[in-house]
Amino acid sequence: MEIFINVVLPIPLQKHFTYSVSEIEAARLNIGMRVAVPFGKSKLFTALVVKIHNDPPEVYEAKPIHDILDEHPIVTTIQLKHWQWIADYYMCTLGEVFRSAIPSALLLESESLILLNKDVVIDEDDLRDDEFLIYEALKQQNILRVDDIMEIVERKNILPILNGLIKTGAISIKEEIHERYKPKMVRYVRMGDKYNSEKELQELLNSLTRAPKQSQVVLSLFHLQATQKKPIKLSELEIDSRTSRAVIRALIKKEVLEEYFIQKDRVEFKSTKELVPPKTLNEYQVKALNDIKGYFQNDSVTLLKGVTSSGKTEVYVKLIANCLSENKQALYLVPEIAITTQLISRLQEYFGSAISVFHSKYNMQEKVEVWRNVLEDKPKAQLIIGARSALFLPFASLGLIIIDEEHETSFKQYDPAPRYHARDAAIVLGSFFKSNMLLGSATPSIESYHNAKTGKYGYTQIERRFGNVLMPDMELVDIKEQHRKKRMNGHFSERLIEEITETLDQGEQVILFQNRRGYAPILECTTCGHTPQCPNCDVSLTYHMHRKQLRCHYCGHHMALPDSCLACGSTTLDTKGFGTEQVEQELNTIFPSARVGRMDLDSTRGKHAYAKIIHAFENQEMDILVGTQMLTKGLDFRNVNLVGIMNADALLNFPDFRAHERTYQLLTQVAGRAGRTKKRGKVIIQTYNPYHQILKQVTTGDYEGMFREQLYEREQYKYPPVNRIIRLTFKHKEFNKLNEASAWFAKALRNRNEIIVLGPEFPPVARIRNQYLKHVLIKIPQGVSLKITKKNIKRIHNSFDAISQFKAVRIIYNVDHM
Ligand code: ADP
Ligand code: ZN
Ligand code: ZN
Repeated sequence: MEIFINVVLPIPLQKHFTYSVSEIEAARLNIGMRVAVPFGKSKLFTALVVKIHNDPPEVYEAKPIHDILDEHPIVTTIQLKHWQWIADYYMCTLGEVFRSAIPSALLLESESLILLNKDVVIDEDDLRDDEFLIYEALKQQNILRVDDIMEIVERKNILPILNGLIKTGAISIKEEIHERYKPKMVRYVRMGDKYNSEKELQELLNSLTRAPKQSQVVLSLFHLQATQKKPIKLSELEIDSRTSRAVIRALIKKEVLEEYFIQKDRVEFKSTKELVPPKTLNEYQVKALNDIKGYFQNDSVTLLKGVTSSGKTEVYVKLIANCLSENKQALYLVPEIAITTQLISRLQEYFGSAISVFHSKYNMQEKVEVWRNVLEDKPKAQLIIGARSALFLPFASLGLIIIDEEHETSFKQYDPAPRYHARDAAIVLGSFFKSNMLLGSATPSIESYHNAKTGKYGYTQIERRFGNVLMPDMELVDIKEQHRKKRMNGHFSERLIEEITETLDQGEQVILFQNRRGYAPILECTTCGHTPQCPNCDVSLTYHMHRKQLRCHYCGHHMALPDSCLACGSTTLDTKGFGTEQVEQELNTIFPSARVGRMDLDSTRGKHAYAKIIHAFENQEMDILVGTQMLTKGLDFRNVNLVGIMNADALLNFPDFRAHERTYQLLTQVAGRAGRTKKRGKVIIQTYNPYHQILKQVTTGDYEGMFREQLYEREQYKYPPVNRIIRLTFKHKEFNKLNEASAWFAKALRNRNEIIVLGPEFPPVARIRNQYLKHVLIKIPQGVSLKITKKNIKRIHNSFDAISQFKAVRIIYNVDHM
């Protein structure tokens, strides 16, 4: 009987593809293994086996596969089930989920660009013939497409060989690597085989009398071997013997020394410190912990609402310890991994090398390592800390999922598909594993709190800060009034200046929050009113003082700062609005002796940039830290006593139904950085609307009030959590075509009476990268099936696709859009 396999290809195809396999191949194959398959005219892809069966495809003849790429499955059946759920729920294809879930190093295809890793030392003698050919070809050309390599070595089945070379680190796939590739082979030395006995050694030393440097190396190696019972690195020997690499090389050549390599995990977290036992919880933490355990008994997802600095993390630690003691893996999801260095080192104290971190800034080799460690349930992959993409790892078991700062919108992937919400997708994953699931936040999302209130989730809270430190004292400052009385110094009110002065005098630190980067969002000519715009997007260019540039925050377009107006030539240029750079500059004038740092997207580009800033601030190498919302996410600084919000209004006026909820969360979280450990902190909020309801709720910590009002509004206007929303984005480079296409679609949607359709409408920035955008928002009331609605939308989409003039119009679905 013929044997077939169904595979998923990493491309947005709706259907599985079927290939034929031989009996021998079938005997080796399993679901979750990768195969190399031909696709289209001449393309080669890495595909994933999802089914093995005997039914030939009806409309095409199944082609044979090229190769089997794995000996064991690298994707589990639970993962496949989870990915399918994501594809269905978020209206994308399984191929898109597959593509974004798997580290790109595991996804070779004919178009992939392969390059040589120059800083990895390869012994050419160790390479097999075909590997050597590829290696040589890459030495000549540096970078080659998989297709080209196939031609050079004159064979088709090269993906297994390339995969092998990738595994050794000799080559890698070109991608947007954030950081230069780091070698993973470490060079070690030991005495050559011949010098095993005392006698031979003595002879050696005698023979080296005329080469004092060489004998020094040998003696040094002895010394090192005697004092440390571990392999000796070549670099260590070089330092210890105070000679040069050339001397050591000469000895290796003479076979006196032998050189060898040890493969080193790049992503190992070595804890140099002894492990410490978890802290003893206070009565409030104990109560919360017991509540949570009770809910876990009943398999309920549980929400822990604990004010900032109430010690939620220590509660998580207890739960993690429980989970690990039952030999199950725990997943700790955080909104953004790059800024959790503090959390990671804290957890390392408790769990040491059981921790694996999954980091979007890791290069692909590092990602593959974590992938394999998690799959094989290695001791170092027991507690996995990661941002949303960690959800796609091949967990062997999953006893606990913690979603910290669950309200954070960065849990929702915006682009590309799958546009999933990691919190919600994690809950589905956890249900497959029957894991315990805990959501934590000081300011829960309206959705989660609603679920807790309606009994869908378990719920417990901690209302006091640890050590009974008081919640910070919050003060609203009316800057309209201050402007009128001419009491503003730049963007600083008198009150804020007073408080900063006092805080600095006490030797304490200050955090200032302004949710805009750059110097000013608008540069304006005061003579003719011209403001430079991005040529590709409908938005004005932001002035960046440090780089002396105007930059577009949507497409990255930039130009040198002009000296005079580009329209009229006048030099009367002025700025409107302000960003972090301007705050920083004003601080330098008002507080010339204060050391000011800045944390925003511009100052944190490199892999370790965040960590450096956080570290410097922790070590009090800075007095004032100015930043965007990066500052809000769970940082724990001991010496910060004042937090200033430069302008709360920009947040409140954001055109989005979640703007008020978000403002509450953001301000409460930033405020939570003040006075965490010792004395009561102070928060100054500058605003033009001191009587705004949300600001009042922030200053009085009235989460309940905020929740009640927001829920009421959401119910009135048919928004989540009671209703569901799906946002459709239409994209095309021609304005008219976009209008026509989106109007057609919206009209078709309006034929369905059970849903509410808003738009099409242009978003505030209606053109990005030369593509016009239009949104249609679909509201799905309670009681209307989400599943059937999606099916109907897809049906309309199919008819839409059949209209030739709309062919090139792209439609992007965003389910539960945030
Ligand atoms: P949250 O996660 O709620 O913001 P943290 O867990 O960061 O709060 O705790 C705030 C501070 O209190 C931290 O510095 C932490 O080390 C300390 N802390 C919390 N719980 C305890 C405890 N049981 N014993 C000692 N210190 C604690
Ligand atoms: Zn002008
Ligand atoms: Zn632009």
